[in-house]
Formats: sequence, C-alpha cells, structure tokens
Amino acid sequence: MDALPPFTATSVHEIPTIHRRVTTNFLDHTTRTIAYRQKQLRALYWGLKDAEPALLEACKLDLGKSAYETYMTEVGWVLNDIVFMDKNLARFMKDEKAEDIDLTNSFMKPHIRKEPLGAVLIIGAYNFPIQLSLGPLVGAIAAGCTAVLKPSENAPNAARAMQHVIRNCLDADSYQIVQGAIPETTALLDCKWDKIFYTGNANVGTIIAKKAAETLTPITLELGGRNPAIISKNADARLAARRLLWAKLMNAGQVCVSQNHILVEKEILPALIEQMKLALAEFHPKGAENNSDYGRIVNERQWQRLKDMLDSTEGKVVIGGKTDRATLFFEPTVVEVHDPGDPLLKDESFGPLIPILPVDSLNEAIRTANSLHATPLGLYAFGSKAETEKILSETRSGGASVNDGFYHASIPTLAFGGVGDSGSGSYRGKASFDCFTHRRSVVTTPWWMERLLAIRYPPYTDAKLKQLKMLTAAKPHFGRQGGSTGGLAWWVLGLGGSDKTGAATRST
Ligand code: NAD
Repeated sequence: MDALPPFTATSVHEIPTIHRRVTTNFLDHTTRTIAYRQKQLRALYWGLKDAEPALLEACKLDLGKSAYETYMTEVGWVLNDIVFMDKNLARFMKDEKAEDIDLTNSFMKPHIRKEPLGAVLIIGAYNFPIQLSLGPLVGAIAAGCTAVLKPSENAPNAARAMQHVIRNCLDADSYQIVQGAIPETTALLDCKWDKIFYTGNANVGTIIAKKAAETLTPITLELGGRNPAIISKNADARLAARRLLWAKLMNAGQVCVSQNHILVEKEILPALIEQMKLALAEFHPKGAENNSDYGRIVNERQWQRLKDMLDSTEGKVVIGGKTDRATLFFEPTVVEVHDPGDPLLKDESFGPLIPILPVDSLNEAIRTANSLHATPLGLYAFGSKAETEKILSETRSGGASVNDGFYHASIPTLAFGGVGDSGSGSYRGKASFDCFTHRRSVVTTPWWMERLLAIRYPPYTDAKLKQLKMLTAAKPHFGRQGGSTGGLAWWVLGLGGSDKTGAATRST
C-alpha cells in the first residue's frame, strides 16, 4: 500500500471535465462492441489479480477485515463476477425475440435490442468497499456504458487501491475514478448522467433521488438495513443461532442485509440464547477481542453511534457488551429487549448488536416485523415449512432466506436489491448487465405489407373500423360476472351462453 499515492479528493473543478470526457467517449460508440467490453473486463480482472495483496491490506486497514473475508466477499467475488460476465456476455447482448406478438405484427419481426444506457455514475459505500464499487462497474462495462466511480471516502485505503487498478488497466476515456466526500459527490450529481447507481443509507438515497429527478435520470438505489429474523418455537435453535451469528458477525455486523433484530417465540428463547453462547465460543474460542479475523468498526463516529445505541437500550445484555474505542472493537452483543419501541429495534445498528424480542405467537412476530419496517432489504424465517411459508406470504422484503441468515445475498449470480424504501432496481449476475442496459423495442415493416396496413391511414371509415375490429379485437375468456368462459369443459358442461361459473363463485 505504501507504494500507492495517498488518498486525495479530486478537485471539484476537474469534475465537469471528467464527466465530459466519459460522456463524449460514449457518444463516439467506442464502448459498444463486444471486443471492447471484453478487453476492459479482462484487463480489470488481471489488474485486480495483480493488486490482490494491496486490496487485502486496504480492507484490513479500513475495516480490520480479515484476508479470508476480503477474498471471499470482495476480491474473489469481483474476480468471479468478471469471469461470469465475460463468459456470458455474447448471450446477454444478443437480441431477444419479442414475446406475445400476434400473427400480423410478427411480420414486422419485433425484437429487443440491448443498448447501453450511456455514461453512468456509480457511488459506493464503505462496508464492502470493493464489491459495492466494482460490482456495479462490471455491470456497466459489460452493458457497454462509460462510467465514473466514486468510492466511499470512509474506506480510503480501498479507494486508493481501486484508483490504482482503474487508472492502470482501464481505458481512461471511458472509465474514471473520482475520490472524495460530500462536495465531490455533489459536484458529480450536478452533471447530467444517463444513470446513477447508489449504494448507502436512505437519507443520502433521498438526496440522490431528488437530484436525479431534476433531470429525469434513472437510478438504482441499494439501501437497506432494519431486517427482521423471525424464529418460531418449532425451529431448530442450534441452526438458527449459528446461522444468524454467521450473518451478523461477518464484517463486524456492517452488512446491510444481515438481520437487525430477531423476533422469537417465547418458548424457544432460552434455547436460542444458550445455542448462541455455544456458537460464539466455537467461532471465537479466545473471545472476539482476541480474534484478529473479527472485523473492527470502520471509524470512531460509527463506533460511537453503536455505543450510544447500546447505552440507550432498555434491554438486558445477555451475551457480550465489551467495547474498546482505541481499537474500534465492538463485541458481538446479544440484548434481550421487551419493547418494540426500543432503539435497538427501531434503528439500524449496522454493527454487531443483536437485539432479541420475545413474542407470544408467530402472528405477533409478523405484525411487529411489519410495523417496524414494512419493506426491509431482507427477511429471515426459521420454523416449519408451513410457518416459514406463512411468514413469507404475510411480509415483504427485497430478498429472503428460509432457515438461514442472508444466504440469498451470498449467491453471486442471484439478483440483489431492495423493495420500497430499502431500494429500487437490482444487480449481480445477469441483473448487473440488465441494470445498465436499455431494452430497445425495434420492428422492421416490410414493403409488401403496405396493402395490409391501409386500414391505419385516414380517412377513417366505418368499413375500416369493422375491418380493424375483426383483425385486432381480442375475445374475452371471462364473462360479465368475472367467471371463466370458453374451453372444452365449459362447452361440454353446457355452460356456453351464460356465465354460471362466475355467478357460482360470487355466491360462495
Ligand atoms: P458511506 O458513508 O460510505 O456513504 C455512502 C456514499 O454516499 C459514499 O460514497 C458517500 O460519499 C456518499 N455520500 C454521503 N453523504 C452524501 C451526501 N450528502 N450527498 C451525496 N453523497 C453522499 O456509507 P453509509 O451510507 O453510511 O452506508 C451504510 C448504509 O448503507 C446502511 O444503511 C446500509 O444498510 C446501507 N447499505 C446498503 C447496501 C445495499 O446493497 N443495499 C450495501 C451497503 C450498505
């Protein structure tokens, strides 16, 4: 890392020039060919591979992240993403035949062309500084866009290392990195982009959405947090404890998609806490404070926010509670709470705080989860098949895992995104390509169809209208009462001519 230039914010005066450069290059159509896109993706792959030691060190410096976690969730993740994208790019780029087209219109060969959106802005967050910045960038390159990446200033070493890679291996006319915080991001937002991709908290998400709305710029927002886990009395306490601790302790809990709070049926609470103690003793035999693989909180401001949350709870600490400002250490801390209004449930901890709220029934758990956050990024249901199905069908969330922590979000090629106020849009795998692609509907009208098309031209006449109806009007498969009509069984049962099925449905 020492060999790399220090973290320095880009001058805000340079930003319009950087924007102009990537916009102009997009309009030169350089980035459209598959050869160009693959050249960039492959260069990025090898650039990252060569910089792997620096990237691992950067995440250790920024977040105390172990090399194991950084490889698994950052460097190795992005490398695999590039290989997947490169391998499948020709298939993703291929025109698609349009679906559900009637015979007449099929002569125009309706199809979807996959067009790059243009010059895009990607704004990353600090917790997975490499994955959350380069993951969207891989999608943008694959889609044929040009891009400016603005990594999080709160992970400055990762930002430096990515700058080194991008400047050394990508075409500078198409791909630029801007460093900085609010002033630099604001200057970037003052430019007109063809898409803005933002990962981070909802307050800034609102700023981005408002700014984008001024120029009708499309956005993808990856927000999140405040995700519930619901554990029924029929769940396996050991599995629930191990899996939820895995999901919460990675990156010292600084994971948008991990559970923020656990709602548990009373009967299983003692077993769950017991199993959590056992699991923690297994995961950190000498205590988390002595495990150099356990991450640290990103900075003092975030550490203090977590400490204030812990100090403000009315709940009882049942496991952990140790903290150390000097090393930004925060022990995995389980707190039994009894009020859904407790700060640990109402706010996103984004750290290793694990509040557990005992409830009387599954219905109460679902009601409480929905009232705490109607549209979280993730939801985790533990119990029997019928119970977990009930939980899924009575809640909403961006994604969900059954009988696990955020497993769905650890599948690299599964589309990932929020719903409602936890975000809009998704990416990863093919979804990353789609995220930066415009599906352009195209037809080609053959010269020989002119006679057939005569009915569309004025002057409009009754005869033309009759012909138009004959050619285009669809026959309903439902009657006035809403019941189904048509089909062989309908005629055989002698229902033709009336809408008895609908009437019957209505009277029951
Ligand atoms: P952060 O501090 O790294 O900020 C994110 C980005 O917003 C940074 O690039 C920063 O420069 C920019 N920013 C900050 N203030 C701004 C402003 N006023 N105007 C314009 N840009 C500004 O990260 P964070 O936001 O604290 O991240 C934590 C939050 O993000 C949590 O709520 C977490 O749940 C969410 N998150 C979501 C995902 C996801 O994929 N859905 C991933 C990670 C984090």
